[in-house]
This record gives sequence, C-alpha cells and structure tokens, in this order.
Amino acid sequence: MRKFNFCAGPAALPEPVLAQAQQELLDWQGLGCSVMEVSHRSPEFTAVAERAEQDLRDLMAIPDNYKVLFLQGGATGQFSAIPWNLFGGGSKKADYIHTGQWANKAINEARRYGEVNVVASSEDRNFSYAPTADAWRESDNAAYFHYTPNETIGGVEFPYIPDVQSPLVADMSSTILSQPIPVEKFGFIYAGAQKNIGPSGIAVGIVREDLLDRALPDIPRSLSWKIAAEAQSMDNTPPTFAWYLSGLVFQWLKAQGGVEAMAELSLKKSQMLYDFLDRSGFFSSPVQKESRSRMNVPFVLADARLDQQFLKESEEAGLLNLKGHRSVGGMRASLYNAVPVEAVEALVAFMADFEQRHG
Ligand code: PMP
Repeated sequence: MRKFNFCAGPAALPEPVLAQAQQELLDWQGLGCSVMEVSHRSPEFTAVAERAEQDLRDLMAIPDNYKVLFLQGGATGQFSAIPWNLFGGGSKKADYIHTGQWANKAINEARRYGEVNVVASSEDRNFSYAPTADAWRESDNAAYFHYTPNETIGGVEFPYIPDVQSPLVADMSSTILSQPIPVEKFGFIYAGAQKNIGPSGIAVGIVREDLLDRALPDIPRSLSWKIAAEAQSMDNTPPTFAWYLSGLVFQWLKAQGGVEAMAELSLKKSQMLYDFLDRSGFFSSPVQKESRSRMNVPFVLADARLDQQFLKESEEAGLLNLKGHRSVGGMRASLYNAVPVEAVEALVAFMADFEQRHG
C-alpha cells in the first residue's frame, strides 16, 4: 500500500509514473531488456533524451537561446560548477543573497574561486524570511547574481524575482515546475531532480547560450556547461534511468495541465496547511507570512516533548517523513507536485485530532 509521503527529497513520485516504469522494467519497447541496459547512444535512448528535453522546454516555455542540460552531481555539483563556468568572463566577483543553508553552501563554494558579495541576508531573524528587493544593491561588475528562490530546509520562498543587471542564477531545486516562471529573466537555472523532477542522480541546468564562453580556462571537463551543451549532455555516460524517469514525470505533468495547474494546486495545498497552522493553538509556522514556501512547510509543536509522539503517530496514520531537517528540528511537510491534495487533507485531519488529544 502506498502511503502519503511528505519527504523533502528524494520525494514522492507520481504513482502512474512508477506503475509505467514497473510495467516496462523487464522489457522496454520490446527490446527484451530494460531502459537501463541499452546504450545511451542507441536510437531508442536518444529518443527518450530528446523527448524529455522537448517536454521540459514546453512545460517551462524555455526560449530557443537557452540550452537544456541533464547533469550529474546534483544541485551541489551545480552550485560548485557555477563559479568555474562564470568567473572566466572578466569578473571574479559575484553577488549572493543569503537565505539559509543552501544559499550558504553555494556562497562558501564560490568564495573558493572569487569574491563574494553577500548583498542581503536573513540571518538576523534566523532565516525566517526572504529579504525584500529594497534591502539590497547589486555590485557594479558582478559576474552573476545568485539566489535560492526556495530554501528547502527553512521553508522560505521568494515572492518575487530579483531584477538585476548581471546574469541571474537560481537554485530552483525545490520549486522548479511548481509554477510558470519567465525563464528569459535568468542566466542559469539549476535543480536537483529528486523533488519535482524525478529520482536523484540527475540535475537539470538551463543556461543562456551567451554565458557558455565565460568559463575559467582550467575548468574540470565534467563541470563544463559548454562541453555538456555541445555533447547533448552525453560527454560521458549519463544516468539513463533517472533521465528516462524524469521524462515520464514531464509527460505526467503535461497531462495534469502543466505548471499552471501545479501552481494552482500548490497554492491550494499549502494554503490549507498554513490556514490550519494559523488557527491552531498548538502547531505554528516559524516563517514570516509573505515568505512562506508552497513546497516545504516547516512547523513546530507548542511542546517539543511531544515531537517523538507526533512522528510515531503520524507514521502509524500513514503520513510519512514529517520530521524536520536534522539541523533545525521540528516538523516539515513537503508538498511537491506528486503530493496529492488528499495527502494534505489527511495531514490536517491528523494534526487536528492530535491537538485535541494532546494540546
Ligand atoms: N539546493 C537546494 C535548495 C536543495 O534543497 C538541495 C537538496 N535538498 C540542494 C541544493 C542539494 O542538492 P543535491 O543533494 O542534489 O546536491
């Protein structure tokens, strides 16, 4: 029996996608073997790769002057690759907004190769909000401007897109495909797959073509967006199963009505939970209202001594993975695209009952 899974990542996948993969596992396309057992250069796999790219382009309305890359090394690989790919164009200075743990890791990586200007930080209030646009000024000659539209751990989401002169770089790991975004405002978008795209082991990069010539000369081959772009993301053997499964998720997303439908659903699901948290005298959200994430909803119990009890009972009720990140404690419900409205209804009903009994 499948349960309701609120894991932050690797996260729930759409059930029809898993069923299709299961059905095709032993004998894919009548080839007598699985998709994992064919050459990535075979016509059959090439078709999978091309369709996945086209479907992602359709879903996100990606303009023609952007390359779509399927990469390895996760989102960490990409925030490590960013300075290598962009510090060779004349400036080794970059602007970063610091909103929590993922922004911080990206900042520390960039500091190893150049000068980082932290233009704004929400550290003063324990990373519980997204700094507003009037709170910062970008540098004059930055190679790029990096921010994290959704902090997965803190549950903080930017309600706006920064308007900056330098190429805007965004870690969309936990928010990609959850709403329409104007891709043309960005220089580079990246996301680890294991939340809203597919299984772990693959990351998506979307890069404006004119940025492909700004790499440091000694960039490791495996980090180069240019080499990846020229080789259709097959300079070396890609994670074929993760790519295939991501492609199935894109097809599923299209059938659901695309990112417009996901935007509506994500608002509905998160609103339902935040409304409950705001009404409750026992559970509460630590995040400032304007910056509350639609994807990751952290919450705390009035009495932390009941945390273990809450986790035990929620597991028993078929509500999985509600434990908050180990660094912050408390609880967190992640509401990615594959988490149905019924899961949130069940969660809210369970929490109301728990409050009745223990509150
Ligand atoms: N950035 C964000 C916003 C994340 O949520 C995560 C993973 N939870 C990462 C980066 C790191 O991703 P990966 O594990 O794929 O390197």
